[in-house]
Amino acid sequence: MYKLLIICTLLNTVSLIRAQEITAEKKILKLMGCRYEITATALDKKTAEKAIQAGIDEISRIESLISEWDAATQTSTINRNAGIKAVNVDKELFDLIYRSCKVSALTDGAFDISFASMDKIWVFDRAEHNLPDSSVVKQAAAKINWKNIVLDAKNQTVFLKEKGMKIGFGAIGKGYSANKAKAAMEKIPGVLGGVVNASGDLMAWGQSNHADGWSVQIADPKNKTKSLGWIRLNDLSIVTSGNYENYFISNGVRYSHIINPKTGYPLTGIKSVTVICPDAELADALATSVCVLGVEKGIELVNKLNGVECFIIDANDKIHTSDKLQLNYYK
Ligand code: ADP
Ligand code: MG
Repeated sequence: MYKLLIICTLLNTVSLIRAQEITAEKKILKLMGCRYEITATALDKKTAEKAIQAGIDEISRIESLISEWDAATQTSTINRNAGIKAVNVDKELFDLIYRSCKVSALTDGAFDISFASMDKIWVFDRAEHNLPDSSVVKQAAAKINWKNIVLDAKNQTVFLKEKGMKIGFGAIGKGYSANKAKAAMEKIPGVLGGVVNASGDLMAWGQSNHADGWSVQIADPKNKTKSLGWIRLNDLSIVTSGNYENYFISNGVRYSHIINPKTGYPLTGIKSVTVICPDAELADALATSVCVLGVEKGIELVNKLNGVECFIIDANDKIHTSDKLQLNYYK
């Protein structure tokens, strides 16, 4: 048995294409309102480019299904019919909403796609603002409740029970699109691997054009120009949520674009949460969830989930990690 194992390992090594023979092509473009960098590897340029195009087409297709900004999407139809009637949707959207609600249950409501009823109250323009009146916040926050998203699997309909309710996929859509783009790219004959990088939320799989495989550098929170270490990404996704990009300031406090569904207020405190796991959609949803749950409860949840790891940078730049995180620190 032991011998057999050695032979198998040798065969694998022999059949592996050497990194120098691999071509990597990359395209940068704006999709779903953010910057995507899509890379594919193959033995020839044409195959890699074909795979990239397959990824782009898939992400555009998803955008036209899930965007809450585009009035023509099924998501917008669901939102327009809040408190009025159930809306029949494609299975793909139905399933995404179903999985979103499962994450809500898993995180005790920290993750909630019905946060979107707050989107008229808060503006995350990186500027200085006064906070709105607390009664206005309270009124809008009363509409957040994933349990009022009524899913009828038999008729494939979605109904937002209350008028004024709204759903949005800002915290899960990028991850979902990365999963689906990967699947579409893998279908192209001859493609060897790739990376879908949605503004830093990324998914890497298959063979890299670097001998060591895919890896990402982790910035040092105390000195952003330096790397703290790196993480190997073999068929893994890494997703970061936090207050570094979309926020506003009020009375010297930074409010992040992640909303606590229980209060309707944007989060303060934690700077970022990074989740690493094979599924980009789950990583995306959990990164947002852990921001809401906070250091203790967030790490406790991640430690319970097989194959999911995370690290958190708190308000004082202290790093907290899950138990089995494999971060390679520079000495
Ligand atoms: P980023 O967009 O920076 O990658 P996230 O994945 O955390 O960060 O997504 C944040 C977005 O998720 C917000 O802009 C908003 O659209 C949405 N959102 C905010 N709070 C919640 C929440 N509690 N649950 C689900 N989605 C949320
Ligand atoms: Mg997220």
